[in-house]
Amino acid sequence: MTSTEESVLPARRLSRQVFVGSVPVGGGAPIVVQSMTNTDTADVNATVDQVASLARAGSELVRITVNTAAAAAAVPAIREGLERLGVHVPLVGDFHFNGHKLLADFPDCARMLDKYRINPGNVGKGKRGDEQFARLVELACRYDKPIRIGVNWGSLDQEVLARHMDDNARAASPRSGQAVMRAALVSSALESAALAESQGLPGNRIVLSCKVSGVQDLILVYRDLAARCDYPLHLGLTEAGMGTKGVVASTAAMAILLQEGIGDTLRVSLTPEPGGDRTREVVVAQEILQTMGLRAFTPMVTACPGCGRTTSTYFQELASRIQKYLRDSMPEWRKAYPGVESLQVAVMGCVVNGPGESKLAHIGISLPGSGERPVAPVYVDGEKTVTLKGDFIAEEFQALVDDYVRRRYGATQGNGSVG
Ligand code: SF4
Repeated sequence: MTSTEESVLPARRLSRQVFVGSVPVGGGAPIVVQSMTNTDTADVNATVDQVASLARAGSELVRITVNTAAAAAAVPAIREGLERLGVHVPLVGDFHFNGHKLLADFPDCARMLDKYRINPGNVGKGKRGDEQFARLVELACRYDKPIRIGVNWGSLDQEVLARHMDDNARAASPRSGQAVMRAALVSSALESAALAESQGLPGNRIVLSCKVSGVQDLILVYRDLAARCDYPLHLGLTEAGMGTKGVVASTAAMAILLQEGIGDTLRVSLTPEPGGDRTREVVVAQEILQTMGLRAFTPMVTACPGCGRTTSTYFQELASRIQKYLRDSMPEWRKAYPGVESLQVAVMGCVVNGPGESKLAHIGISLPGSGERPVAPVYVDGEKTVTLKGDFIAEEFQALVDDYVRRRYGATQGNGSVG
């Protein structure tokens, strides 16, 4: 079977470790997948439902916006609703403009959130902004919570930007406006973190992010940030967009950084279609990490693209049926079959690459292409074990996958070969 050898994985950048609730971020911990709701936080039922579905999809932290008194007042009921459902995912509060006031006025909200996200560009201007930032830090210290200093170039601190612009104007070789903007983003994050530490927040309570919407800018910003501090870094391409564009742009940017060992937690900011499934951003984040060999979440299906040799859509339907079955089975399998997330299944369209690819998976099937005998050999741990034919190939293959999972990952069998 194919496997990702440890030696080919990139060395991770060493960072401090920050605990968000019980979830470690940085310091060598597995890269954490997170997501954000798009419900009105004041709508407790809708928010509980969406947080629960994001957590069940595999989001290890979930962020909710806390933008009004009603939203802050709803946080304890959201936490209780989640506990009733058995969902214990840490909740992150996203604060802009009035976080200092909401956290002070709603102490139960402050207590029940596991992290506060603070945007230095939206804390306030001048002396007032300094006081409000200090108030946020004081509240994080009082409730013993970590913060993420989350800079975003759509809301970059204009005072920091103006300072960088002035310095650049006086420089012998001025840089481009884009380069100045990137430098200002990084400065805003680092200076805010230093300020928070000087105000008493321990360094191991700070995570940083600097989100931009351009792939090349994101890479340059995070390389700079990674080289200049040892805080854990939250990766994300902001406003990545809809559909395949959002997926591709996020993957292109984050994969390069992850390959350089940069990134301790990530969020994929996809714009869902109206009524679309919010959990897609979790699946994409997991698939980025899993296809790079950095983590394993769900058994993966290797499927060929199909071509003129495939006679029908049967092979596509089987590949998609098996991938869905594997994903849907994971909540139960995760408990019953430790290690099953590394399972690799192949569903291939014809004899050209079918047997070879199937032998490389734990279990694989090579369907008949056009002009081939209507039989589908199945390979288990590299050996051909059975040949399926007739009208129930899909059902029989699914049963073989089930049987393989039980035998390979079941508690009494250990993880040995079951070929
Ligand atoms: S395995 Fe066969 S059906 Fe699939 S892409 Fe290759 S040649 Fe085409």
